[in-house]
Amino acid sequence: MDGMGKGARSFEIARQDRGGANEHQRRKGMQITECDDRREQELAEKLGKISGKEDYQLFLCNSGAEANENALKMASFHNGRKKIVAFNKSFHGRTSLAVAATDNKNYIAPVNETDNVIFLPLNDEAALEDCFAKNGKQISSVIIEGIQGVGGINVADVSFLKKIRSLCDEHGAVYIADSVQCGYGRTGKFFSHDFAGVNADIYTMAKGMGNGFPVAGIIIAPHIKPKHFQLGTTFGGNHLACAAALAVLEVLEEEKLIGNATLVGKYLRDELEAIPELKNVRGRGLMIGFDVPEELKDLKKNLLWNQKIFTGEAKPNVIRLLPSLALKKRDAEQFIESIKEEIALLQETAS
Ligand code: PLP
Repeated sequence: MDGMGKGARSFEIARQDRGGANEHQRRKGMQITECDDRREQELAEKLGKISGKEDYQLFLCNSGAEANENALKMASFHNGRKKIVAFNKSFHGRTSLAVAATDNKNYIAPVNETDNVIFLPLNDEAALEDCFAKNGKQISSVIIEGIQGVGGINVADVSFLKKIRSLCDEHGAVYIADSVQCGYGRTGKFFSHDFAGVNADIYTMAKGMGNGFPVAGIIIAPHIKPKHFQLGTTFGGNHLACAAALAVLEVLEEEKLIGNATLVGKYLRDELEAIPELKNVRGRGLMIGFDVPEELKDLKKNLLWNQKIFTGEAKPNVIRLLPSLALKKRDAEQFIESIKEEIALLQETAS
């Protein structure tokens, strides 16, 4: 299983030539956003169709952190408020506001510290209601990953996302769906937040968007109207980035990779759940995590060195799987065989 690392690739790099990304790079070199409205428009249209958010407005940038930074700022411009609600174990990036909304003290420099972010337990509806009851008119936005990635593959409950939607509506706050890791088809829907059947006000995207090429963006619901100069960028939406992003959408569509994520993801989940040593198998589609008991703590390392399979992790004991969306069932079968083999070897050594 190649490309399981940080989820930045939705499928193998060999396909990048499709849609002409590399061809454009050779022929035209780099161009900035303003020079290439046509490609950006083409991307916006295709993205709108595939994601089902055709009436949203697209702003392109270069990384997930930048996307979240712009989403949080846009929300604050929109309602003139300062407070952000984020959740325990969240990861939203390493730049100023994005990192302030990230629940990991190791990433937050003193200069990033702020009283404007309120952290709540994930999936705790009572805590969320209480927070809105106390701070309702100060809350600018709620930012949430549909499935926490860095935090250890923790799925936001459907009822929790619905509660966020209704509380944001009631109090004039903006619902921001961080889809940097869990978006772009990985979970079997274009945005994992879609499982809740409600729309967010802003979706942020990066990682799989360029299949490894740095391109990111936010889409903004039509009732939010960015004013000139509120969002800006030098490189965002450059010609090459748009070509790469378009190529990715074409492959997603032509090769039905979102459906594949559902099918192969289900197979992987079922098989992993049947391995008694692995606990709390969770996730959606091809975004899967499970807990590894202390006696198998070398499993990740051994998968890498003995089987040449690179898996992700979340400290202290979670293995994270973010494979190619084009993963074939036979590759998934091989992965399951390999993991069983390594578990047996570790148990043999221990006895
Ligand atoms: N949001 C989420 C959910 C992420 O997983 C990440 C990166 O891992 C980011 C934001 C930040 O993205 P980037 O590293 O492109 O800035």
